[in-house]
Amino acid sequence: MKIKSEQFRMTKPREVVLSILSSRKEHLTADDIYNIAKKIYPTIGFASVYRSLRLFEREGIVEAVFVNGKKKRFQLKKRREKIKIHLICTNCGKIKDFSGRNKEVKGFVDEIKKVLAEKYSFKLSTLEMQIFGECDKCKS
Ligand SMILES: [Zn+2]
Repeated sequence: MKIKSEQFRMTKPREVVLSILSSRKEHLTADDIYNIAKKIYPTIGFASVYRSLRLFEREGIVEAVFVNGKKKRFQLKKRREKIKIHLICTNCGKIKDFSGRNKEVKGFVDEIKKVLAEKYSFKLSTLEMQIFGECDKCKS
């Protein structure tokens, strides 16, 4: 688990809350989390559960949603894949970037993902690629 800020300390209540969130797929309310947490760590208080959730939310680890306008529910943020492809012109130095949102890039990345998964049972999370060549203007 990557944590953004340096001053973040993993205390026991935080650890418990995080382990609950990572073991459940559904969105949980602070009460749900507190009730599960008590079974693991009986001395935990609701306030520290709630503070942990707020902290994780600020740190971007957890996202809070309101389901049907009801109580706030919490879930671990899904880690998005990071795809970055740079086309670099060796003549003029122009760089064109593609992200994973680009349709053609997505198709190409999906192919790589399939190969990695099938052949090496490896899960791609970040892809950064530099392709060198000549740009539209320089190639003629
Ligand atoms: Zn060029």
